[in-house]
Amino acid sequence: YRPLTTADLEHRICVCVRARPLNKKELTMKDLDVITIPSKDVVMVHEPKQKVDLTRYLENQTFRFDYAFDDSADNDMVYRFTARPLVETIFERGMATCFAYGQTGSGKTHTMGGDFSGKNQDCSKGIYALAARDVFLMLKKPNYKKLDLNVYATFFEIYSGKVFDLLNRKAKLRVLEDGKQQVQVVGLQERDVKCTEDVLKLIEVGNSCRTSGQTSANAHSSRSHAVFQIILRRRGKMHGKFSLIDLAGNERGADTSSADRQTRLEGAEINKSLLALKECIRALGRNKPHTPFRASKLTQVLRDSFIGENSRTCMVR
Ligand code: ADP
Ligand code: MG
Repeated sequence: YRPLTTADLEHRICVCVRARPLNKKELTMKDLDVITIPSKDVVMVHEPKQKVDLTRYLENQTFRFDYAFDDSADNDMVYRFTARPLVETIFERGMATCFAYGQTGSGKTHTMGGDFSGKNQDCSKGIYALAARDVFLMLKKPNYKKLDLNVYATFFEIYSGKVFDLLNRKAKLRVLEDGKQQVQVVGLQERDVKCTEDVLKLIEVGNSCRTSGQTSANAHSSRSHAVFQIILRRRGKMHGKFSLIDLAGNERGADTSSADRQTRLEGAEINKSLLALKECIRALGRNKPHTPFRASKLTQVLRDSFIGENSRTCMVR
């Protein structure tokens, strides 16, 4: 991977692809991969094949991204090139956002939350925790130390257009927009955090809250967006905010024809929010004056992250 340049750091949007390894089931079924990553920023989509002729890849469907990670990349690696450069943004009074986008089972929660495959859930390797670790490291730098910043965290979920606090037993919260166009999630718990350990505990609390009472953890999380935020405050005033988002599975769109009304409504809501997100990110990338953030609850609560001079976003898909 080429090292980050100043231009990268000024880039407002970075879009990456991460391929996960084939899982046990896919291996047993002798499934073959349909994507190949021939270089650090190119993704080829092809028929399932054992061997792909890389010299001919331009004739296939190829896509270029800021970075493409094959299945040998671990979370640390992905983090280093995606969310890591954004940590500085929030110290410089900016807004940073990192999304994990993709189908259910593509590895969004693994990337953002950490490794939940074994018995022992390890959220210390997820982007939430890695970002928190670096926030606390950065806080010690003389330049930032003198600012006397305090760190807070929130963790909530957006399900069917409604907001639920994962740090407060899934309390349902209202979203209000005041006259100054500030969007507020009323009553959202903002927890004081002093070290990475504090953050890990909150992630655990939030994760267990997210899935409690659900027959299948994945069935629920595939239909909701989880938003984890690290907020810097100086004398109570917001200095910067980092939002890390595990999006609902983007396959839900297919379900809009489902016979089940609830599933259909959920599918429509997810489509709406992912579409709204796309439009907002577009507006951000083009420095367009109008950002259609009101089109969904997701983009509405992220309003302040899309607007403003110093907003930066990365998307891992
Ligand atoms: P999603 O949140 O997108 O639905 P998950 O993160 O739950 O997907 O991943 C689905 C499964 O694949 C999980 O069992 C997870 O542990 C595994 N997995 C995902 N990405 C990787 C990876 N890069 N390396 C190893 N296992 C992974
Ligand atoms: Mg998930």
